Amino acid sequence: MTAKAIPAKARAVIIGGGVSGCSVAYHLAKLGWTDIVLLERKQLTSGTTWHAAGLIGQLRGSQNMTRLAKYSADLYVKLEAETEVGTGMRQVGSITVALTEERKHEIYRQASLARAFDVDVREISPNEVKQMYPHLNVSDVVGAVHLPLDGQCDPANIAMALAKGARQRGATIIENVKVTKVHTRNGRVSGVSWAQGEDQGTIETDIVVNCAGM
Ligand SMILES: Cc1cc2nc3c(=O)[nH]c(=O)nc-3n(C[C@H](O)[C@H](O)[C@H](O)COP(=O)(O)OP(=O)(O)OC[C@H]3O[C@@H](n4cnc5c(N)ncnc54)[C@H](O)[C@@H]3O)c2cc1C
Repeated sequence: MTAKAIPAKARAVIIGGGVSGCSVAYHLAKLGWTDIVLLERKQLTSGTTWHAAGLIGQLRGSQNMTRLAKYSADLYVKLEAETEVGTGMRQVGSITVALTEERKHEIYRQASLARAFDVDVREISPNEVKQMYPHLNVSDVVGAVHLPLDGQCDPANIAMALAKGARQRGATIIENVKVTKVHTRNGRVSGVSWAQGEDQGTIETDIVVNCAGM
């Protein structure tokens, strides 16, 4: 895409085309924010997202993380049908084992929290762990939880599916454009500068979402 296609103004600019940026673009577009621009300095998913193992686990330590993890798992199951991008999502389930009483209490607490948000989760005995996964030595396992709807996906394709879903709803996603500066006026964001090879420019915006990763 050439520099000419980069708009001079947008309702929001998202920096970074990893899974976070693509997800922000997807969800803003779904809320009807079509006048948004995502700028990725290289290719979509070329950052950390490319390296992820793609494990989708819903056992989390806080309410908000549990809700987010469940929402994501549910979304990833539907995303392939919606966007026709193969996400590789397979709900093979997960087992988390505890080797100490303290850890057992912790994962049981997380399981209770997850259950409160309708996550399918069950406390299981070491014997049940052995039945489900015979390769594991369970001699020092004191407790475990099983989440049958946890799974694994292709993280890059999840991001590509989110990007496609965002584009389908009108979002603009441009690769090989680096954000070089965030501008402020009277203490508020007023725009970004970008560079694409020798070309440079600015986008006027009130909202910048920093999804540039580490
Ligand atoms: C080995 C490994 C295994 C992992 N396994 C899992 C797992 O199983 N499950 C799980 O949930 N998580 C896993 N993670 C974590 C997961 O990969 C990250 O949390 C996630 O990919 C972060 O996504 P992101 O979009 O925030 O960042 P990134 O994917 O890094 O995206 C940031 C993007 O911003 C772009 N960018 C940066 N600066 C600019 C700029 N100035 N202008 C324009 N673009 C810019 C970059 O090029 C990049 O594409 C794993 C991570 C690693 C390293």
